Amino acid sequence: MNGAAYKALNGILELLYPPNIYCICCGKIIDSSRTYSMCNDCIGSIRWVGGRNCTKCGKGLNENNPKDICFDCSGQAHSFDRGFICSEYGVHEKTLLYELKYASEGYIGETLGEIAYDRMAAELGEETLAASYDMVIPVPIYKLREQRRGFNQAELIAKSFAKRAGLNLEREIIIRTKATAAMKGLDAAERRANISGAFEIRARKLPLIKGAKILLVDDIYTTGATLDEAASVLKAAGASKVDFIAFASGADILPA
Ligand SMILES: [Zn+2]
Ligand SMILES: [Zn+2]
Repeated sequence: MNGAAYKALNGILELLYPPNIYCICCGKIIDSSRTYSMCNDCIGSIRWVGGRNCTKCGKGLNENNPKDICFDCSGQAHSFDRGFICSEYGVHEKTLLYELKYASEGYIGETLGEIAYDRMAAELGEETLAASYDMVIPVPIYKLREQRRGFNQAELIAKSFAKRAGLNLEREIIIRTKATAAMKGLDAAERRANISGAFEIRARKLPLIKGAKILLVDDIYTTGATLDEAASVLKAAGASKVDFIAFASGADILPA
């Protein structure tokens, strides 16, 4: 096939299968120029965190909470320094995170990384964001689980984020040495016990950590047990700052 014929064929293929033609959330047909590859309905239904948010973990604050930290952070000290959250976990967020994990569609991680980058750039400004960290580290999952799934979902988000921020992605620094039970259904104390001792720093990477400003990336923030455990291991190894960004978190709920 000559070049002209090849181009013509490619043109036809693109007409038949334009990129990003389905909303990544509901599957509805959209045009490829849509922000975050989502239809208007889905983008309007995502519970974006934008206004008042917790100065510690970043979740959106309940309108009945007069303080600048959420009810959870009022009763729980954290090992991380500061968190950033993109959205409050609801039906649409659940769908996106499910697809990210189980549909093995790399482009969802790409979009969630773009969303995470926009969230932090809106909060800090692009230049401050790039200057605030030495590296981006995805929260690791247990090796066997990663092998079975084929990837670590947090790493897909982190890769897209780091590329946009112009920051180094470090995926080999921290490893998960324990196959922990699923966190679902566990309370905060049980989650902390479950994840305790699950992370280790690779010995040969220790010099990289000393004095480093680190941004951890995860898909979801629940009680913060996992991020605290990862942050405390990094700080014990000499990290000077450990922040995180997660796509979704629970709501700021008034204590019972
Ligand atoms: Zn949609
Ligand atoms: Zn908080």
